[in-house]
Amino acid sequence: MSRIAVIGSNMVDLVSYVDRMPLEGETLEAPRFVIGCGGKGANQAIAAARTGADVLFITRVGDDIFSEQTIRNLQDSGIDTKYVKKSPGFSSGVAPIFVHPDSHNSILIIKGANRCLNAASIEEAADDIQKCALIVLQLEVELEAVYAAIDFGARHHIPVLLNPAPAIADLDENSIGKLDFLVPNETELSLISGMPVTSTETTRLAARALLAKGVKNVIATLGVQGALYVGQEGEWVVPGITVQAVDTTGAGDAFVGCFARFWSETRDIRAAMEKAVLYSACSVTACGTQTSYPDPLKFQEFQE
Ligand code: ADP
Repeated sequence: MSRIAVIGSNMVDLVSYVDRMPLEGETLEAPRFVIGCGGKGANQAIAAARTGADVLFITRVGDDIFSEQTIRNLQDSGIDTKYVKKSPGFSSGVAPIFVHPDSHNSILIIKGANRCLNAASIEEAADDIQKCALIVLQLEVELEAVYAAIDFGARHHIPVLLNPAPAIADLDENSIGKLDFLVPNETELSLISGMPVTSTETTRLAARALLAKGVKNVIATLGVQGALYVGQEGEWVVPGITVQAVDTTGAGDAFVGCFARFWSETRDIRAAMEKAVLYSACSVTACGTQTSYPDPLKFQEFQE
Protein backbone atom coordinates (compact mmCIF):
# COMPACT_ATOMS: atom_id res chain seq x y z
CA MET A 1 0.00 0.00 0.00
CA SER A 2 1.37 3.44 -0.86
CA ARG A 3 1.90 5.97 1.92
CA ILE A 4 0.65 9.54 1.96
CA ALA A 5 2.33 12.35 3.92
CA VAL A 6 -0.17 14.97 5.08
CA ILE A 7 1.61 18.08 6.35
CA GLY A 8 -0.63 20.69 7.97
CA SER A 9 -2.90 21.86 10.73
CA ASN A 10 -4.99 20.35 13.46
CA MET A 11 -7.63 22.20 15.47
CA VAL A 12 -9.97 21.42 18.31
CA ASP A 13 -13.46 22.75 17.59
CA LEU A 14 -15.11 24.14 20.74
CA VAL A 15 -18.71 24.42 19.65
CA SER A 16 -21.15 26.45 21.77
CA TYR A 17 -24.80 26.46 20.71
CA VAL A 18 -26.05 29.91 21.70
CA ASP A 19 -29.44 31.66 21.78
CA ARG A 20 -27.55 34.89 21.10
CA MET A 21 -24.01 36.25 21.52
CA PRO A 22 -23.21 37.87 24.90
CA LEU A 23 -22.84 41.64 24.84
CA GLU A 24 -19.54 43.18 25.94
CA GLY A 25 -19.22 42.70 29.73
CA GLU A 26 -22.19 40.30 29.87
CA THR A 27 -22.13 36.69 31.14
CA LEU A 28 -24.71 34.52 29.42
CA GLU A 29 -25.74 30.90 29.77
CA ALA A 30 -25.82 28.80 26.60
CA PRO A 31 -27.77 25.55 26.21
CA ARG A 32 -25.15 23.17 24.76
CA PHE A 33 -21.41 22.63 24.16
CA VAL A 34 -19.56 20.02 22.07
CA ILE A 35 -15.84 19.36 21.45
CA GLY A 36 -14.78 18.05 18.03
CA CYS A 37 -11.52 17.36 16.21
CA GLY A 38 -10.84 19.39 13.08
CA GLY A 39 -8.27 21.46 11.20
CA LYS A 40 -7.81 21.05 7.46
CA GLY A 41 -4.67 18.93 7.73
CA ALA A 42 -6.19 16.57 10.28
CA ASN A 43 -9.46 16.36 8.33
CA GLN A 44 -7.64 15.35 5.16
CA ALA A 45 -5.45 12.86 7.03
CA ILE A 46 -8.56 11.30 8.61
CA ALA A 47 -10.45 11.18 5.28
CA ALA A 48 -7.47 9.50 3.56
CA ALA A 49 -7.07 7.00 6.41
CA ARG A 50 -10.79 6.24 6.48
CA THR A 51 -10.73 5.39 2.78
CA GLY A 52 -7.93 2.92 3.55
CA ALA A 53 -4.73 4.93 3.08
CA ASP A 54 -1.54 4.50 5.10
CA VAL A 55 -1.07 8.07 6.39
CA LEU A 56 1.89 9.87 7.96
CA PHE A 57 0.69 13.16 9.53
CA ILE A 58 3.14 15.94 10.30
CA THR A 59 1.74 18.63 12.59
CA ARG A 60 2.22 20.37 15.94
CA VAL A 61 -0.03 20.20 19.00
CA GLY A 62 0.03 22.38 22.11
CA ASP A 63 1.27 21.91 25.59
CA ASP A 64 -2.27 21.48 26.98
CA ILE A 65 -5.15 19.08 27.65
CA PHE A 66 -6.28 19.09 23.99
CA SER A 67 -3.12 17.50 22.61
CA GLU A 68 -3.80 14.00 23.98
CA GLN A 69 -7.32 13.97 22.54
CA THR A 70 -6.01 15.09 19.15
CA ILE A 71 -3.32 12.38 19.07
CA ARG A 72 -5.75 9.67 20.26
CA ASN A 73 -8.27 10.68 17.59
CA LEU A 74 -5.61 10.39 14.85
CA GLN A 75 -4.33 7.07 16.16
CA ASP A 76 -7.88 5.67 16.35
CA SER A 77 -7.99 6.11 12.56
CA GLY A 78 -4.65 4.31 12.18
CA ILE A 79 -2.60 7.43 11.35
CA ASP A 80 1.15 7.40 12.06
CA THR A 81 1.63 10.18 14.68
CA LYS A 82 5.43 9.98 14.99
CA TYR A 83 5.65 13.63 13.87
CA VAL A 84 2.63 14.93 15.77
CA LYS A 85 4.82 16.75 18.27
CA LYS A 86 4.11 19.01 21.22
CA SER A 87 5.28 22.63 21.09
CA PRO A 88 6.15 23.66 24.66
CA GLY A 89 4.64 26.97 25.71
CA PHE A 90 1.99 26.99 22.98
CA SER A 91 -1.71 26.16 23.13
CA SER A 92 -3.18 23.65 20.73
CA GLY A 93 -4.91 25.08 17.69
CA VAL A 94 -8.49 25.76 18.75
CA ALA A 95 -11.59 27.08 17.06
CA PRO A 96 -14.26 28.45 19.40
CA ILE A 97 -17.41 28.20 17.27
CA PHE A 98 -20.75 29.79 18.18
CA VAL A 99 -23.74 28.23 16.44
CA HIS A 100 -26.74 30.58 16.41
CA PRO A 101 -30.37 29.40 16.42
CA ASP A 102 -30.66 30.08 12.66
CA SER A 103 -27.65 27.66 12.13
CA HIS A 104 -25.30 30.50 11.19
CA ASN A 105 -21.83 30.28 12.75
CA SER A 106 -19.42 32.80 14.28
CA ILE A 107 -15.93 31.28 14.36
CA LEU A 108 -12.65 32.31 16.00
CA ILE A 109 -9.42 30.56 14.96
CA ILE A 110 -6.43 30.42 17.32
CA LYS A 111 -3.68 28.59 15.43
CA GLY A 112 -1.51 28.06 18.53
CA ALA A 113 1.09 25.30 18.01
CA ASN A 114 0.22 25.06 14.30
CA ARG A 115 2.35 28.20 13.90
CA CYS A 116 5.41 26.20 15.02
CA LEU A 117 5.40 23.95 11.94
CA ASN A 118 8.32 25.20 9.81
CA ALA A 119 11.01 24.15 7.32
CA ALA A 120 12.93 22.34 10.07
CA SER A 121 9.83 20.22 10.82
CA ILE A 122 9.93 18.97 7.21
CA GLU A 123 13.67 18.21 7.31
CA GLU A 124 13.31 16.38 10.61
CA ALA A 125 10.78 14.01 8.96
CA ALA A 126 12.76 13.76 5.69
CA ASP A 127 13.54 10.03 5.84
CA ASP A 128 9.88 9.15 6.39
CA ILE A 129 8.45 11.64 3.86
CA GLN A 130 10.78 10.22 1.22
CA LYS A 131 9.01 6.86 1.54
CA CYS A 132 5.66 8.46 0.63
CA ALA A 133 3.94 8.43 -2.77
CA LEU A 134 2.31 11.84 -2.31
CA ILE A 135 2.64 14.94 -0.12
CA VAL A 136 -0.66 16.66 0.75
CA LEU A 137 -0.68 20.32 1.89
CA GLN A 138 -3.14 23.09 2.81
CA LEU A 139 -2.67 26.73 3.87
CA GLU A 140 -3.68 26.65 7.54
CA VAL A 141 -0.04 26.62 8.71
CA GLU A 142 2.80 29.09 8.11
CA LEU A 143 3.65 29.57 4.42
CA GLU A 144 7.31 28.82 5.25
CA ALA A 145 6.31 25.21 6.02
CA VAL A 146 4.15 24.94 2.90
CA TYR A 147 6.88 26.24 0.59
CA ALA A 148 9.51 24.04 2.27
CA ALA A 149 7.32 20.98 1.72
CA ILE A 150 6.72 21.87 -1.95
CA ASP A 151 10.45 22.33 -2.41
CA PHE A 152 11.16 19.05 -0.62
CA GLY A 153 8.78 17.19 -2.93
CA ALA A 154 10.37 18.74 -6.03
CA ARG A 155 13.90 17.89 -4.86
CA HIS A 156 13.03 14.29 -4.02
CA HIS A 157 10.63 13.67 -6.93
CA ILE A 158 7.63 13.12 -4.67
CA PRO A 159 4.36 14.43 -6.18
CA VAL A 160 2.83 17.33 -4.20
CA LEU A 161 -0.87 18.23 -3.89
CA LEU A 162 -1.86 21.64 -2.49
CA ASN A 163 -5.40 22.40 -1.36
CA PRO A 164 -5.08 26.22 -1.19
CA ALA A 165 -7.46 26.69 1.73
CA PRO A 166 -8.10 29.02 3.43
CA ALA A 167 -7.59 31.12 0.30
CA ILE A 168 -4.57 33.43 0.00
CA ALA A 169 -4.17 35.71 -3.02
CA ASP A 170 -0.43 36.26 -3.33
CA LEU A 171 1.07 32.77 -3.23
CA ASP A 172 4.69 32.42 -4.34
CA GLU A 173 4.57 31.72 -8.10
CA ASN A 174 7.80 29.74 -8.07
CA SER A 175 6.35 27.32 -5.51
CA ILE A 176 2.99 27.08 -7.29
CA GLY A 177 4.84 26.20 -10.48
CA LYS A 178 6.31 23.09 -8.83
CA LEU A 179 2.93 21.57 -7.89
CA ASP A 180 1.68 18.32 -9.34
CA PHE A 181 -1.88 18.94 -8.14
CA LEU A 182 -3.65 22.14 -7.13
CA VAL A 183 -7.11 21.41 -5.72
CA PRO A 184 -9.03 24.66 -5.02
CA ASN A 185 -12.76 25.30 -4.64
CA GLU A 186 -14.24 28.00 -6.87
CA THR A 187 -13.52 30.89 -4.44
CA GLU A 188 -9.91 29.79 -3.95
CA LEU A 189 -9.39 29.32 -7.70
CA SER A 190 -10.66 32.83 -8.39
CA LEU A 191 -8.40 34.37 -5.74
CA ILE A 192 -5.26 32.51 -6.83
CA SER A 193 -5.77 33.08 -10.56
CA GLY A 194 -7.05 36.65 -10.12
CA MET A 195 -9.84 35.73 -12.56
CA PRO A 196 -13.63 35.48 -12.16
CA VAL A 197 -14.92 31.93 -11.59
CA THR A 198 -18.66 31.97 -12.18
CA SER A 199 -19.31 29.19 -14.72
CA THR A 200 -17.73 26.00 -16.08
CA GLU A 201 -16.12 28.03 -18.86
CA THR A 202 -14.60 30.66 -16.54
CA THR A 203 -13.43 27.87 -14.20
CA ARG A 204 -11.64 26.26 -17.17
CA LEU A 205 -10.02 29.56 -18.15
CA ALA A 206 -8.79 30.22 -14.59
CA ALA A 207 -7.42 26.67 -14.31
CA ARG A 208 -5.65 27.00 -17.66
CA ALA A 209 -4.02 30.23 -16.43
CA LEU A 210 -2.55 28.28 -13.49
CA LEU A 211 -1.32 25.56 -15.84
CA ALA A 212 0.53 28.27 -17.73
CA LYS A 213 2.36 29.04 -14.45
CA GLY A 214 3.66 25.47 -14.27
CA VAL A 215 1.07 23.58 -12.20
CA LYS A 216 0.73 20.14 -13.79
CA ASN A 217 -2.90 19.40 -12.85
CA VAL A 218 -5.70 21.61 -11.53
CA ILE A 219 -8.77 19.99 -9.98
CA ALA A 220 -11.45 22.55 -9.12
CA THR A 221 -14.17 21.33 -6.78
CA LEU A 222 -17.57 22.73 -7.76
CA GLY A 223 -19.75 21.92 -4.74
CA VAL A 224 -22.96 20.19 -5.79
CA GLN A 225 -21.75 20.21 -9.42
CA GLY A 226 -18.81 17.87 -8.75
CA ALA A 227 -15.28 18.65 -9.92
CA LEU A 228 -13.47 19.89 -13.02
CA TYR A 229 -10.06 18.74 -14.26
CA VAL A 230 -7.66 20.75 -16.43
CA GLY A 231 -4.18 19.35 -16.78
CA GLN A 232 -1.58 17.24 -18.55
CA GLU A 233 -4.16 14.58 -19.42
CA GLY A 234 -6.74 16.95 -20.94
CA GLU A 235 -9.92 18.48 -19.57
CA TRP A 236 -13.08 16.93 -18.13
CA VAL A 237 -15.85 17.33 -15.55
CA VAL A 238 -16.88 14.65 -13.06
CA PRO A 239 -20.54 15.50 -12.34
CA GLY A 240 -21.73 15.82 -8.74
CA ILE A 241 -23.91 13.25 -7.02
CA THR A 242 -27.41 14.31 -5.99
CA VAL A 243 -27.88 13.71 -2.27
CA GLN A 244 -29.92 15.07 0.63
CA ALA A 245 -27.22 17.43 1.97
CA VAL A 246 -27.44 18.12 5.71
CA ASP A 247 -23.98 19.61 6.45
CA THR A 248 -21.39 20.51 3.81
CA THR A 249 -18.60 21.51 6.25
CA GLY A 250 -15.40 19.65 5.48
CA ALA A 251 -16.61 18.40 2.07
CA GLY A 252 -13.49 19.78 0.36
CA ASP A 253 -11.24 18.00 2.89
CA ALA A 254 -13.13 14.73 2.31
CA PHE A 255 -12.56 15.17 -1.44
CA VAL A 256 -8.81 15.81 -1.03
CA GLY A 257 -8.23 12.92 1.41
CA CYS A 258 -10.10 10.43 -0.75
CA PHE A 259 -8.49 11.64 -3.99
CA ALA A 260 -5.03 11.36 -2.40
CA ARG A 261 -5.68 7.77 -1.37
CA PHE A 262 -6.97 6.54 -4.74
CA TRP A 263 -4.55 8.51 -6.91
CA SER A 264 -1.47 7.45 -4.93
CA GLU A 265 -2.53 3.84 -5.34
CA THR A 266 -3.64 3.83 -9.01
CA ARG A 267 -2.15 7.01 -10.60
CA ASP A 268 -5.51 7.25 -12.39
CA ILE A 269 -6.64 10.89 -12.01
CA ARG A 270 -10.14 10.47 -13.44
CA ALA A 271 -10.94 7.35 -11.39
CA ALA A 272 -9.59 9.00 -8.22
CA MET A 273 -11.75 12.09 -8.90
CA GLU A 274 -14.83 9.89 -9.36
CA LYS A 275 -14.20 8.23 -5.99
CA ALA A 276 -13.56 11.63 -4.35
CA VAL A 277 -16.81 13.11 -5.71
CA LEU A 278 -18.70 10.09 -4.35
CA TYR A 279 -16.91 10.18 -0.98
CA SER A 280 -17.42 13.92 -0.44
CA ALA A 281 -21.09 13.65 -1.51
CA CYS A 282 -21.55 10.89 1.06
CA SER A 283 -19.90 13.11 3.71
CA VAL A 284 -22.43 15.93 3.23
CA THR A 285 -25.28 13.56 4.11
CA ALA A 286 -24.11 13.46 7.77
CA CYS A 287 -23.48 16.13 10.43
CA GLY A 288 -20.08 17.43 11.46
CA THR A 289 -16.70 17.33 9.73
CA GLN A 290 -14.58 14.27 10.59
CA THR A 291 -17.67 12.61 12.08
CA SER A 292 -19.28 12.76 8.61
CA TYR A 293 -16.45 10.92 6.81
CA PRO A 294 -17.71 7.41 6.05
CA ASP A 295 -15.67 4.33 6.90
CA PRO A 296 -15.10 1.75 4.11
CA LEU A 297 -18.29 -0.16 4.95
CA LYS A 298 -20.55 2.92 4.91
CA PHE A 299 -18.84 4.19 1.74
CA GLN A 300 -19.41 0.82 0.08
CA GLU A 301 -23.11 0.90 1.01
CA PHE A 302 -23.40 4.46 -0.34
CA GLN A 303 -21.93 3.39 -3.70
CA GLU A 304 -24.38 0.48 -4.12
P1 ADP B 1 -15.29 23.19 -0.13
O1 ADP B 1 -15.94 22.36 0.92
O2 ADP B 1 -13.80 23.21 -0.01
O3 ADP B 1 -15.89 24.56 -0.32
P2 ADP B 1 -16.84 22.16 -2.39
O4 ADP B 1 -18.01 22.93 -1.87
O5 ADP B 1 -16.47 22.36 -3.81
O6 ADP B 1 -15.53 22.42 -1.52
O7 ADP B 1 -17.15 20.63 -2.12
C1 ADP B 1 -16.16 19.62 -2.33
C2 ADP B 1 -16.82 18.41 -2.95
O8 ADP B 1 -17.87 17.94 -2.07
C3 ADP B 1 -17.50 18.66 -4.28
O9 ADP B 1 -16.58 18.46 -5.35
C4 ADP B 1 -18.62 17.63 -4.28
O10 ADP B 1 -18.16 16.39 -4.78
C5 ADP B 1 -18.97 17.47 -2.80
N1 ADP B 1 -20.15 18.27 -2.42
C6 ADP B 1 -20.16 19.48 -1.81
N2 ADP B 1 -21.43 19.91 -1.61
C7 ADP B 1 -22.25 18.95 -2.11
C8 ADP B 1 -23.67 18.80 -2.21
N3 ADP B 1 -24.53 19.71 -1.73
N4 ADP B 1 -24.14 17.65 -2.78
C9 ADP B 1 -23.31 16.71 -3.27
N5 ADP B 1 -21.97 16.81 -3.21
C10 ADP B 1 -21.43 17.90 -2.63
